[in-house]
Amino acid sequence: MKTKCDFCFRRCSIEEGKTGWCRVRENDSGTIVSRNCISAIALDPIEKKPLYHFLPGTKTLSFGASGCSLSCDFCQNWELSQQHEKGSNQDIMSLIDEASAYSIPSVSFTYSEPLVWQDEILELSPHIKAHGMKTVMVTSGTFSESSLLRLVPLIDAYNIDLKGDEDFYRTICHGSITPVIDSIGYLVREGKHVEITTLMIEGIHDAKMMLNIARMLHDAGVSVWHITRFFPAYKMSDRKATSESFLKAMISELHGCGIPYIYPGNSMLEAETRCPRCNTVINRYRTKGICPECGCRIYGVWNHDTF
Ligand code: SF4
Repeated sequence: MKTKCDFCFRRCSIEEGKTGWCRVRENDSGTIVSRNCISAIALDPIEKKPLYHFLPGTKTLSFGASGCSLSCDFCQNWELSQQHEKGSNQDIMSLIDEASAYSIPSVSFTYSEPLVWQDEILELSPHIKAHGMKTVMVTSGTFSESSLLRLVPLIDAYNIDLKGDEDFYRTICHGSITPVIDSIGYLVREGKHVEITTLMIEGIHDAKMMLNIARMLHDAGVSVWHITRFFPAYKMSDRKATSESFLKAMISELHGCGIPYIYPGNSMLEAETRCPRCNTVINRYRTKGICPECGCRIYGVWNHDTF
């Protein structure tokens, strides 16, 4: 008997004994189960997610498992996302207890695509919340409607990849932009902390595509956008890395697109935060979320909000 998985936008109908598109979720006698478990664990700076406007300067206990809802030819993390290992049997609950004892303020679900192993998130999040810690999800944003409804009450902050336009999604990521942009808009409207990342590939992403993405993100109410340099990887190992000069030129092209905070990533370029009203430089690590010069609100969840 076929059974449906509702973890991501693909909503696979899975035959008994088979797995869905991600090769993680399996139909075991009519019940969909995950074949993997958490296999990557680290204590990362929150800026590595990247989140620049969410508890800056803090560390986040980070978990990952294999599998993904997309298959991007340029995946920078393909060893984990495109593998289908079962993972380790680490005592994750004890690690969370330990992190809390050391005042680590958040736990991140990251590295590959947490949507395909969201049963781990559903199990761990109440335990994390019971410690008063925040939760973070770094995701492709390819939510199904039901997964959005399930996860929104549990996850405080999101970094979502917006990879390109529809043609880019179809030809290079083997997916679609629609569930991603719809999910971004929903999370912003729900008042969640949202930052977006676009990995920009010189020779594929051009000004027209980036301005098109900027318009969609602006319409969705996005405030923070990380534009990061591509490095050769996976099925795009033969392409050259995106140059610093191309990144700089593109960020300058996007100036005035209406998104107030745009940052370079994987780059030596300065990643300053400036007040969107008076252009004063804001110290992200000390701000209380208000510009000291003009009183404008600076978007984010700042350290004084929680400590
Ligand atoms: S997580 Fe997504 S890709 Fe994997 S089986 Fe479920 S619906 Fe299909």
